[in-house]
Amino acid sequence: MRVLLIEDEGALRHAVAEALAADGARVQEAADGPEGLYLASEYPFDVAIVDLGLPGLGGLTLIRRLRAAGSRLPILILTARARWQEKVEGLESGADDYLTKPFEMPELLARVRALWRRAAGTPAAVLVAGVYRIDLDAQQVSRAGCPVALTAFEFRLLEYLARNRERVVSRRELGDYLYPQDADRDSNVLEVLIGRLRRKLDPDGSAHPVETVRGRGYRFAPAEAP
Ligand code: CA
Repeated sequence: MRVLLIEDEGALRHAVAEALAADGARVQEAADGPEGLYLASEYPFDVAIVDLGLPGLGGLTLIRRLRAAGSRLPILILTARARWQEKVEGLESGADDYLTKPFEMPELLARVRALWRRAAGTPAAVLVAGVYRIDLDAQQVSRAGCPVALTAFEFRLLEYLARNRERVVSRRELGDYLYPQDADRDSNVLEVLIGRLRRKLDPDGSAHPVETVRGRGYRFAPAEAP
């Protein structure tokens, strides 16, 4: 998930960028309105977070210009002022959701993910594949109705594979997603992790949830339910 974060308060911007990155997003930061508008117009993003009070060009104007130019980028606005009027103006300008400062970081992450899901055309936060049912909001997975206990990290791995189940995901891409800050990655770690995920998801070896595609990567392709 590529996120554009337009916020002029440095400390808040860094904190949000860090939380998003830890959640697996690739974050591009902009500290004023003109830079934000430029990045949003020129580069592909999945979600933008836009502060309303921005130097150079206000958030509302930025959003109106983006929409006028035909952009459908999902936008979450941040507003320091909890005025009802401003929220309405924000949504009327073309934003998709808003959050009032101060906010809790998990709340922001949940909103961003919800926008991403909506845009990706999967409004239901549940993925069903073969005997597996993956609840993305509750972060729970079950096999034929029986809960499977995964760590948060294992769940992230599964979620990524399941979201991209139409294709093969390369080791490199998985590594970038799982350890974005870690330049020096050991591919054995990924193999160990995949192995553990397979054993937990498929203790009797009958459902084959994670297929290894030789030389290319992995694919989430569980056997269909009997
Ligand atoms: Ca501001």
